[in-house]
This record gives sequence, C-alpha cells and structure tokens, in this order.
Amino acid sequence: MRVLIIEDEPKIAGFLHRGLTEEGHQVDVVGDLDGARLAVRAERYDLLLVDRMLPDGDGLSVVRELRRARDRTPAICLTARDRVEERVEGLYGGADDYLVKPFELDELLARMAAVTRRAPAAEQLEVGDLVIDVAAHRVRRADQELQLTAQEFSLLRYLAENAGRVLSRTRILDAVWGVTHDPRTNVVDVYISYLRAKVDKGFERPLIHTVRGAGYVLEDRPR
Ligand code: CA
Repeated sequence: MRVLIIEDEPKIAGFLHRGLTEEGHQVDVVGDLDGARLAVRAERYDLLLVDRMLPDGDGLSVVRELRRARDRTPAICLTARDRVEERVEGLYGGADDYLVKPFELDELLARMAAVTRRAPAAEQLEVGDLVIDVAAHRVRRADQELQLTAQEFSLLRYLAENAGRVLSRTRILDAVWGVTHDPRTNVVDVYISYLRAKVDKGFERPLIHTVRGAGYVLEDRPR
C-alpha cells in the first residue's frame, strides 16, 4: 500500500521508511504539518503514520482536517507519550489506532493490517426508522425526507456512526466542528435542538436522547 509517514525525527522516519519499503509498501516521508498537508492533497494514501509532536504542531491536526473533509484514510498515531488521556485524545482526533514509541516493526505491521482491513465506512446508516444515505447526503425517517443543512447533516451522521454510544459535547465539537472552535461554545446544544426539531418532532419515539451530565446519544429505544 501507499503509506505517508509524518515524522520529524530522522532516525524514526528512516527506520519506518526502510522497514515498510522492505515489506513492499510505497512510502513517502514528510517532517512537518505543512509537508503533510501538501502530500495528502497531492496523493491518495492507503495509510498515514502520524507523529504527534512536529515542529509546527500536532500531527493529529492533519487527521482532523481529513476527517472533517469526510476523508477516512486510516491513520495510526505514533506517540512518545503514553499517558492514557493522550491516547484517548488521539483516537478522538480521528486516528484509528496508536502506537507508543518505541515500538517494534512487527507490531506496527500488525496494526497497519488491522486498520486497513476494517470495513470501509457504511454508505447507509440506519438507526430505527431513520436512514442516512451518506453518499447522497439524504436523510429519511419513516420514509419521510428530512431537509437538513450541511452542518446538521454532519452532526447527525456523527451521532449515527456512534449510535448507542453516549458522546460528550467536547467530543462532538471536536469531531464535527473541529478543535479550533471555542470549547465554551454552546453550538452543540443549539444544533442538537435544530436536529430534534427535524428528526424527532412529530414522531412518537425520539431518537436523540440527552444523557444528563454526559452528553447525547442517538438511539432507538423506548421512552
Ligand atoms: Ca516528533
């Protein structure tokens, strides 16, 4: 596969480049965020290996940007820091997996195989009688077409991709609006209310639920 290594440490980048080339992969290496942005614009990669600490910022911001643009290229985060919060934050940033440095090449190869084997994103998401056609950007509930704005669609899609899972406001904000947004904003609550007015209003069974003190969940469950 075609792999982009985003890593500024020459030793690690060299080790990865050698190891992956020997495995038959086509490998490009960039050492900063600017280089990574240019590379992903110019080339379609099958996998990104992303260092978090780059000279011009956090490598995960490239992954976040791709996810916001609905690009699901698998990404494995390489981190020297092994604190749990940072791993979690890494996954929230849209990375599919992480490896804590130092790691063995065999372990990386196993993770690469796992994240690229995962089924591609569903074309259609269903929660109860709600059907989201991802490619066509269309939403139906009980065969009634719902008219959503682009932002409402992104939010609903994220909730549907995580159906049954309680999502915190921070997590939703990060995934749908991006980290550049003011974390104190109430934009999530505002858009949830817009969505409720379109998705749940007039239906006996609401799908969007508030979990007090935790966040929101999209789920088909009895009242
Ligand atoms: Ca680094």
